[in-house]
Amino acid sequence: MSTSTLEDTLAKDGGPKAVSIVNPPRVRWGAEEKAQVNEALDQASLFYWKGPQTSLLMEKFQEHYPLEYVMPCSSGTAAIHIAVNAAGIGPGDEVIVPPITDMGTVIGILYQLGVPVFADLQPNNYNLDPADVRRKITSKTKAVIAVHLAGNPADLNELRAICDEHNLVLIEDCAQAWGAEYDGKPVGTIGDIGCWSLNDFKHIGCGDGGVAASSHPVYGPLLNKCGDKHFDRVGGTKPTSLAPNYRITELQSAVGTVQLDRMREFTEHRGQLGRLLNELLQNEAGIQIHEARPQDRWTAWFYMFRVDPEIMGCTAREFTTAINAEGVAAGAGYIGIPVYQFPMFINHSFFNGSWPVRDLGLTDMDYTQVHCPVTEEILQTCVQVPINESTPEEYVRQAAEAIKKVAAHFRNNR
Ligand SMILES: *Cc1c(COP(=O)(O)O)cnc(C)c1O
Repeated sequence: MSTSTLEDTLAKDGGPKAVSIVNPPRVRWGAEEKAQVNEALDQASLFYWKGPQTSLLMEKFQEHYPLEYVMPCSSGTAAIHIAVNAAGIGPGDEVIVPPITDMGTVIGILYQLGVPVFADLQPNNYNLDPADVRRKITSKTKAVIAVHLAGNPADLNELRAICDEHNLVLIEDCAQAWGAEYDGKPVGTIGDIGCWSLNDFKHIGCGDGGVAASSHPVYGPLLNKCGDKHFDRVGGTKPTSLAPNYRITELQSAVGTVQLDRMREFTEHRGQLGRLLNELLQNEAGIQIHEARPQDRWTAWFYMFRVDPEIMGCTAREFTTAINAEGVAAGAGYIGIPVYQFPMFINHSFFNGSWPVRDLGLTDMDYTQVHCPVTEEILQTCVQVPINESTPEEYVRQAAEAIKKVAAHFRNNR
């Protein structure tokens, strides 16, 4: 036990708080969004097809993402379902996905009667490990969905090469990655289809909304049909396949289009804060920073570091309780357990208690047997620190001080 001054007594033990300012709530929209929504309400119709707001949304989207076919839709989950449907995923087809993500990544696969196959993650950027993706490929594999977690690009070079080699569709889940760039290219434009979310919590949002986009000659033209009851709005032919109604409305598009104007600015600020935290924490023993490649544009939808229990002598949860007391808003464990351990997977109860895909012998997948050791270790040791476009740099500097203070305390008292 070291002798400590009042200065380094933890706030949870009665010492002074390391953080003196609060991370203010987000200010998401203002006069411009209001004006745009009012403009929409003056229209005779709020229907998306050829609607002026949705057309503008598509145009603005293409300024950032030069993709030929763009389907604005009702959510990120919808965008991914549209992508998976357009890519031709059907009964028994396997799609490789990461185990730390939103349910939206896998919902569309399951509805297409496909089989999500979980591959493990890289330990410090929490994205798909290409080596494990390779190991998970079987004769049934049809696609890979790469999630760019927290706006940090996945290893697209490797994943693109694997998909080309095995003739797999590469879908990019960019729900958390607005504005992110891999080697100077916007994420979402390197795979065959890119998917984005405009839900209320993402970098930019319109309440709920999404975009699926592609320049692929086969999948691209199907995106519209796959989000609009397989209705052929261009050719007028009757539906040839099954697709839900995932249409956006003009009201959502009105907000989304203004948000797209502000996307660069919002993502720039978050990216700077993420890099700053890495810089401030990089040499701290027992703390593993959120690894991001210098040549990428990481847009830091959140910041997530890992606590080494050997060095610290504490759990991520104990560490989080201590930094919370210092005034840092943070949470341990992110999603808590890997997606493959969610009850619907463990019980194979996707369709009101049953899973026809397995009952019909189209797969022998048993999710109780799935283990991704790196993923499980990440979730045991990670601490997520929310940052956003309104977060002051000074808050982040003080948060880093708090993390260092708590780290020193645990190291010295173990
Ligand atoms: C938010 C999110 C989704 C789903 O988006 P919704 O608009 O909420 O349906 C999918 N994937 C990831 C990685 C997400 O973070």
